[in-house]
Amino acid sequence: MAYKALMSKIVLITGATAGIGEACAHTFAREKYNLVLTGRRTERLEKLSKEITEKYGVEVLTLEFDVTDKNAVVSKLESLPDGWKKVDVLINNAGLSKGLDPVQSGLYEDWDLMIDTNVKGLLYVSKVVANWMISNGSGHIINLGSIAGKEIYANGHVYCATKAAVDFLSKGMRFDLLTYGIKVTAIHPGAVETEFSLIRFKGDTERVKKVYEGIVPLVAEDIAETIWFAASRPAHVNINELIIMPTQQANATVFNRKV
Ligand code: NAP
Repeated sequence: MAYKALMSKIVLITGATAGIGEACAHTFAREKYNLVLTGRRTERLEKLSKEITEKYGVEVLTLEFDVTDKNAVVSKLESLPDGWKKVDVLINNAGLSKGLDPVQSGLYEDWDLMIDTNVKGLLYVSKVVANWMISNGSGHIINLGSIAGKEIYANGHVYCATKAAVDFLSKGMRFDLLTYGIKVTAIHPGAVETEFSLIRFKGDTERVKKVYEGIVPLVAEDIAETIWFAASRPAHVNINELIIMPTQQANATVFNRKV
């Protein structure tokens, strides 16, 4: 396993148990990358790993950790065999929105979770992997931002702020990693139908239904293909950022709903 891992390109995906991360796992496996898949839900990681190995014949390692747990991030990542630390592409995808409330009644625990996951978790993973990329002499970090990081909307303040942070962290990483030839890209999707809204609305399926009512939203595969486009440009080309929306979405809040 270690030998083949050294011969093939490697992508490390955070939040590979669902949605965009899972779709990226399929897309990069199709392109014959070996995969390091991470997330908190072990059974899903195991199921996905088996499915991908059988379907694409690539090698998959799974690491179960919570990106908000700094020590777990460092120790789990550093536990990878050396050959698997030759990561070509890191997809910082793990993230979430929790709640949609005004500042005066928002929940502390929702704010902590969003900030810890979307901002601090992304940083913890990036530091470890950026150092590997520096040692390897190349690499590409792809961060999942959001249209929410480009525009504020009512009651979205903390989620929007975390994604604005991802936007600026991505731009900052470009400076820091420039001299090492490491690429950095930020992908900013509009509405993608995944588990995202179910988590934002804490399982309230009626509210989730309203998000996608009368529109054809993006699906996770649309974003995975866009990420693959960014990852597969020639060595001299860096896609700094891309904003991708459903055709029926003009900005963070304006939709052409056919209801
Ligand atoms: P999703 O279906 O809910 O998937 C989120 C993934 O993140 C899951 O695999 C989850 O895995 C992982 N995750 C969440 N918290 C984690 C933690 N603390 N530690 C480790 N993994 C964690 O959502 P998605 O739509 O694919 O979202 C992926 C990214 O795209 C997020 O950063 C999101 O903000 C961004 N985005 C989504 C949309 C949209 O409309 N869907 C739009 C713009 C941006 P486990 O639960 O197994 O840990």
